[in-house]
Amino acid sequence: MNLLYKSTRNTSQKVTASEAILKGLADDGGLFVPEFIPQLDVPMDELKDKTYQETAYIVMKQFFTDFTEEELKHCIERAYGDKFDTKEIAPLVKIGDTYYLELFHGATIAFKDMALSILPHLLTTSAKKNHVTKDIVILTATSGDTGKAAMAGFADVPGTKIIVFYPKGGVSAVQERQMITQKGNNTAVVAIHGNFDHAQSGVKTLFEDQKLKEKLAQFGYQFSSANSINIGRLIPQVVYYVYAYAKLLQHEQITPGEKINVTVPTGNFGNILAAYYAKQMGVPIDKLLCASNQNKVLYDFFETGTYDKNREFILTSSPSMDILVSSNLERLIYSISNEDAKKTAELMGDLKQCGSYEITPEMRERLSDFVGGYATEKETAEIIENTYKNTGYVMDTHTAVAAHVCRAYKDKWDNYTKELVVSTASPYKFLKSVMTAIDDKYQTMDEFDLVEELNKISGTPIPNAISEIKNAEIRHRRECNVDQMKETVLDILEIEV
Ligand SMILES: *Cc1c(COP(=O)(O)O)cnc(C)c1O
Repeated sequence: MNLLYKSTRNTSQKVTASEAILKGLADDGGLFVPEFIPQLDVPMDELKDKTYQETAYIVMKQFFTDFTEEELKHCIERAYGDKFDTKEIAPLVKIGDTYYLELFHGATIAFKDMALSILPHLLTTSAKKNHVTKDIVILTATSGDTGKAAMAGFADVPGTKIIVFYPKGGVSAVQERQMITQKGNNTAVVAIHGNFDHAQSGVKTLFEDQKLKEKLAQFGYQFSSANSINIGRLIPQVVYYVYAYAKLLQHEQITPGEKINVTVPTGNFGNILAAYYAKQMGVPIDKLLCASNQNKVLYDFFETGTYDKNREFILTSSPSMDILVSSNLERLIYSISNEDAKKTAELMGDLKQCGSYEITPEMRERLSDFVGGYATEKETAEIIENTYKNTGYVMDTHTAVAAHVCRAYKDKWDNYTKELVVSTASPYKFLKSVMTAIDDKYQTMDEFDLVEELNKISGTPIPNAISEIKNAEIRHRRECNVDQMKETVLDILEIEV
């Protein structure tokens, strides 16, 4: 059976999975969603003995139905190989009563690698299938992790170019160094004078610019997106929820069918949406805890039914979650509106015009799978410190936000459901914040000197992603204002206006 995709804002146009991957965003500005969420067609009892790659095939074949078995397996093999530092790809670690699903064992030591290591292969395969002859230009806004992971995936992939915009001053020192030292002749990095939301809405505007699209076509280019709005990123993220549950079962940590709670540190709402899809596929998940930092738009949304981005943007120690417009929430809105594209378009119009929207009481009722929570900067630091002191485990700031929200929920409701906390970054990526949470004395030390310190106190080996950037040459120095993004793209592509 062929599963087609439609836009959240207009359901009359339907496209195949490979077309949706190529386009990124639908023509009407909506996001592509599958016509329905398929059910897992392999029982958990069998899934529990599968490798990550085998699980990936079982899940993805249900969504990407126009790919042949050979194509899909080829993409999976190239993505989930020795770029990861563990054969398990996404290991589960039990600390106290909590299971941490570590999604940071890929090339750039953050969870974005889980999807961005496969996206280039899905995209180039999609291009071949659809007889695309133009070069694909990946345009990406990043709050720090996506940009590097996307470039690592796309660097020197024939037929592609990638341009990354990041907020100047809005990413960690390690994140910035990782990006500006990126190799590959098809990569470009631009620091914009603005925050992540400026970068993201700027990129969205470029995608919607029909004149620009024509101009690019003349020069043999077409845009595509590596942001988490691309269905080619969302679906690979469903895989690790299926895998994690299966592994809990394999290691007899849960009984068959036992429900678990999943806490996800959330920014753009992609990762947690994938968990929601996994639940709909049949993975026994009870609550999905959506963990925010002090930019708690999502928490307020789950509490009140109103999404309101009109507020101060706060730079926190978990910068990859410093987001006021969570793009993927649109897919949830569409789902809880009973797939009402008109209603979804209307609410997204409100968001664009007034910066806020309010869902109906019926829609709110359908949000019962979700619980919102947030952690302050102090709570984030405290849980890093306490977990280290009690167990020796060092977690990063994003994971800490989730760990706090998970604990607070458990305490508040006396809840004994087994809990999975999604661990989205290696502590080596956010050294300054992590180390000062453990001890103030690290405050005055250079971020790169903290590498050895973390190695000493945690005993976890220094990841390759860190050692390789230490003395790497800086290759990207471009900066621009928010209103210069279009000219900058044209300049990078050497297109004259
Ligand atoms: C991107 C990112 C997140 C947020 O994930 P979303 O899918 O955008 O909600 C959380 N933690 C880290 C480390 C990230 O890089």
